[in-house]
Amino acid sequence: MANLRFEVVAEAFRKRPADVIAPVERPSEYFGKYVFNRAKMYKYLPADVYTKLIDVMDNGTRLDRSIADAVARGMRQWAEENGVTHYTHWFQPLNEGTAEKHDAFIEHDGKGGMIEQFSGKLLVQQEPDASSFPSGGIRNTFEARGYSAWDPTSPVFIIDDTLCIPTIFISYTGEALDYKAPLLRSLHAVNVAATAVCHYFYPEVKKVQTNLGWEQEYFLVDESLYSARPDLMLTGRTLMGHDSAKNQQMDDHYFGTIPERVQAFMKDLETSALELGIPCKTRHNEVAPNQFELAPIYEECNLAVDHNMLLMSLMKKVAHKHSFRVLLHEKPFDGVNGSGKHNNWSLVADNGVLLHAAGKNGEDNLRFVVFIVETLMAVYRHNGLLKASVMSATNDHRLGANEAPPAIISSFLGKQLSDLLDHIEKADKAELFNLAGKQEMKLDIPEIPELMIDNTDRNRTSPFAFTGNRFEFRAVGSEANCASAMIVLNTAMAEALTDFKKRVDALIANGEDQTSAIIDIVREDIVTCKAIRFDGNGYSDEWKKEAQRRGLDCEACCPICFDRYLDKDSIRMFETMNVMKRNELEARNEVKWETYTKKIQIEARVMGDLSMNHIIPVATHYQSRLAKNVEGMMNIFGPDEGKQLTARNVKIIKEIAERTQIIETGVEELIKARKLANKIECERQKAIAYHDTVVPKMEEIRYHIDKLELIVADELWTLPKYRELLFIR
Ligand code: ADP
Ligand code: MG
Repeated sequence: MANLRFEVVAEAFRKRPADVIAPVERPSEYFGKYVFNRAKMYKYLPADVYTKLIDVMDNGTRLDRSIADAVARGMRQWAEENGVTHYTHWFQPLNEGTAEKHDAFIEHDGKGGMIEQFSGKLLVQQEPDASSFPSGGIRNTFEARGYSAWDPTSPVFIIDDTLCIPTIFISYTGEALDYKAPLLRSLHAVNVAATAVCHYFYPEVKKVQTNLGWEQEYFLVDESLYSARPDLMLTGRTLMGHDSAKNQQMDDHYFGTIPERVQAFMKDLETSALELGIPCKTRHNEVAPNQFELAPIYEECNLAVDHNMLLMSLMKKVAHKHSFRVLLHEKPFDGVNGSGKHNNWSLVADNGVLLHAAGKNGEDNLRFVVFIVETLMAVYRHNGLLKASVMSATNDHRLGANEAPPAIISSFLGKQLSDLLDHIEKADKAELFNLAGKQEMKLDIPEIPELMIDNTDRNRTSPFAFTGNRFEFRAVGSEANCASAMIVLNTAMAEALTDFKKRVDALIANGEDQTSAIIDIVREDIVTCKAIRFDGNGYSDEWKKEAQRRGLDCEACCPICFDRYLDKDSIRMFETMNVMKRNELEARNEVKWETYTKKIQIEARVMGDLSMNHIIPVATHYQSRLAKNVEGMMNIFGPDEGKQLTARNVKIIKEIAERTQIIETGVEELIKARKLANKIECERQKAIAYHDTVVPKMEEIRYHIDKLELIVADELWTLPKYRELLFIR
């Protein structure tokens, strides 16, 4: 019997690094080559149009339809000079990934021929026939069709022969059907709230921008091996596979030498990414074998989110060219680390002040303390919601396992910052002031040298860690759209800052000095949000108990976590900050539950198929071989000696019989559990049923399959093994 596995393994081994034609220019020269950035706008647009467009981009003024035609003309000219024939509205629907429908620039010319055309109308707004995108029921009437609208704050770019226009995707009645629309609203909310608070310290501030620097982890698998793993192809992860004898015990992969084939892939990827304006900076091996990371320099949040989406699709394309497949799934392999996407998040005012960074004097440091404490307030008040924002059927494997942040949100500040907050909380108020006459009043907040709060005391187990001048949200899934987490974080921050300002202003209105009022409220909040601060080991069991005692959200069931979106506090937050309305939240939750169910459903089906078509036939085949051997031995040696000599084989024959029986019964029960769950109408209940009944069944089946892998002859096993998937590159 020919075994495909040996063929693909041999093929994978033979592969050499692909030739990479590196650009002759330096990165600074080809950076943004395929982006219609400011320099290109300046070149291709009339001066007045350019000025107006910059105003739209920088100050969020309304896009004047009268300039749209001129912008479209300039864009088309630039695009055509780069060989572009098509354009697309590029958006981020709720089913993850991005969506695009390409249209050619052509129109009838009325004389039987064609002309190239691209009007402002087509640039600004479109109505894609996108009725199959999930909407959670918002779009089931004709009037509620979806349309896509240009987001001028993210520049258009070229991929192959297509001009891609970043757009929001909303219903006719204005409900968001994507990630970008609420993200933009949340960025606006945090801008308004943070600017107002900034005015206590810097009256000149007009705008506060949100920064996001993501770090993308991923696995690479040789394409030939991948093609022999239906589970990887259909679900993005291995549903079975025994641990490789060697995996990551030696910690020899992390920051190790990058394998040649991978290095070639990375080079190619980075060139393409830089050409698309993604400022790639860091690349390295990650902890698990065949796991890697790429991180760009941080950017404005909306742009950073687009760039991450773009990078993920670019990765898949470039990997293909190098005969790799990229796995973005959070947990492609059991027993080794999964992949996350750390979201480094901070706020910066337009006077250049990083609001989450310490300053040089007492005043600056009071501002620093305010923004740190209000971030903690935001995370404390909405810790359950923040967790829900990163929960998914796939990230479920990571959160709660001992490698990723636990399924409890807490924040690590480090000793210095903790001490500072404790000092501010406990110090006698007069102590915080250095009173040398009203004019001379100086805050006696200890100075924080920048070098001191560097990366010295890092806590890898914390889901939301302060890292010097930003917070790092580490629970985000590798496959996720960063926007989901950013929407919640920004909105919660906007709410915390708004609430903070309201209380400070009330004290000021009562005649209290501004600085004194700020200190009062900050001290109040330091006490209120104390439960969210945790510098210990987030993986420990004691923490789980302690967190429960502190009243933090400890729910670990993914579909139930989604309930947090519909909590009274959450709805109030989203509505008062003008980010989402109740019906949008309800609709989006329907999509979340439905997506959860579908993902598990697909996995369960693949599990059933593989069990019946691969595992059981192979195991039975081997069993027959052994049986024949036993029979032969008995003939030769007679029953007594034969029995002795065949004892080992008989034991294996029996074990195979038992395990295949359990697997077969397990698959039947799996199907039954699915059928029962499918009858449930309510999406929430259905998702919970899948979580409670289907998932554990799959784990049980897997256990026995992995045991079979250990006893069945290697030459018969058809699925590439972990030692092959993880170590061939
Ligand atoms: P690591 O956390 O692995 O040490 P880095 O220190 O290289 O990684 O930084 C990770 C990401 O954080 C990068 O994208 C970097 O640009 C980003 N970053 C640095 N400073 C800030 C900041 N103030 N706000 C947001 N992101 C930041
Ligand atoms: Mg990091």
